[in-house]
Amino acid sequence: MDDGELIRRAIEVRERAHAPYSSFTVGAALLAPDGRVFAGCNVENRNFAITLCAERNAVFQAVAAGVRRIAVLAVVSGPGASMCGACRQVVREFADGDSRLLLADAAGRFRERRIDDVLPDSFGPEGLGVDPPWRA
Ligand SMILES: [Zn+2]
Repeated sequence: MDDGELIRRAIEVRERAHAPYSSFTVGAALLAPDGRVFAGCNVENRNFAITLCAERNAVFQAVAAGVRRIAVLAVVSGPGASMCGACRQVVREFADGDSRLLLADAAGRFRERRIDDVLPDSFGPEGLGVDPPWRA
């Protein structure tokens, strides 16, 4: 799957976001190493503390299906915003140095990053002496 198709999947799922409080809709599409795609949108709640971001939604669906490594993660929002801190840490758990992060705007224009770009000097499984999930 090419980058454009993955971003289109993120644009499609963004349309299903539940964001009545912020109106900031986000879609994410995760390409697993085996070619499967997992899409997630943000799901807000009246209790803002339990709102779930699109990126974590997609990652958790992938993990529930047995995926342990992100090959490519496309994230689409109106302005092409980057990920929040919580999502960066979750992505860090399943991204290695080769995992590609595509941060796209609503028109599909994107910039590419790696986990070390968006979360330098990060805390990961290695910090606890545990193999990262993609190596286990
Ligand atoms: Zn987030």
